[in-house]
Amino acid sequence: DAMIQVENLTRTYPSGTGTVDALSDVSFSIQPGRIAALVGRSGAGKTTLLNCIGGLDTTTSGRVIVDGTDVATLDDRARTALRRDKIAFVFQTFGLLPLLTAAENVSLPLRLRRLDPVEREERVAHYLDLVGLGAQAQQRPGELSGGQQQRVAIARALAGRPRLLIADEPTGQLDADTGASVLTLLRDVVRAEGTTAIISTHDPKIEAVADQVIRLADGRVQPHEARRGRHANP
Ligand code: ADP
Ligand code: ADP
Repeated sequence: DAMIQVENLTRTYPSGTGTVDALSDVSFSIQPGRIAALVGRSGAGKTTLLNCIGGLDTTTSGRVIVDGTDVATLDDRARTALRRDKIAFVFQTFGLLPLLTAAENVSLPLRLRRLDPVEREERVAHYLDLVGLGAQAQQRPGELSGGQQQRVAIARALAGRPRLLIADEPTGQLDADTGASVLTLLRDVVRAEGTTAIISTHDPKIEAVADQVIRLADGRVQPHEARRGRHANP
């Protein structure tokens, strides 16, 4: 079964005296272990879609099934539980707590889930190593570069062993080279863990990193052209 199955999803927001369809009749699926890229210009509906999948926003109509659960039918409490247990987020702005060290930032969600302290410390060390920051464990975000901060956020996301990782513009605040290396790292660690991932980005390099590309324009999924060398005629 698909890890994510979106069927005829529409999300309408009030706008002035009328409404705007941020998403119109969106359908697609992502199989377990796949890395999907979500692309489209600003205002296309990427954040709205990720928030609907991740249970951060409600839907207007349609179905959003994540790992067998229809997110659209959940109440607030159940949606919070889904986020805690199955889904991890990575944001453009990293979202690290500035007064905590890298290790403490990775540890915090595990603490909140009351993970056994020994297992917690093991995971913190393992995931910081995995993102190449074993030596920076005791540094605070302000002492790290943007790329390093995003790597801490990736370690924090994966340390909870989520079924699904949602990354909204993870390279949006990074320069091109740093962004490219963060995307490659993200791909490698997500692969190593076997986690399903959906990554929104403006970065065209994503096409080389993703298994699947979902293109949004004006809230609608665009039909895809055949990928060269795979679906093209000989
Ligand atoms: P993207 O992430 O691709 O830039 P968004 O999902 O942020 O696109 O926005 C899609 C559309 O929905 C835009 O027209 C935006 O103005 C509108 N929109 C997004 N969130 C809201 C909201 N909370 N209220 C009203 N309109 C919104
Ligand atoms: P398969 O797993 O059968 O080899 P592909 O790897 O070709 O299939 O496609 C996997 C997913 O990526 C499918 O959901 C498909 O719709 C989508 N896809 C295939 N080609 C493209 C493309 N050029 N652009 C965007 N999405 C594509």
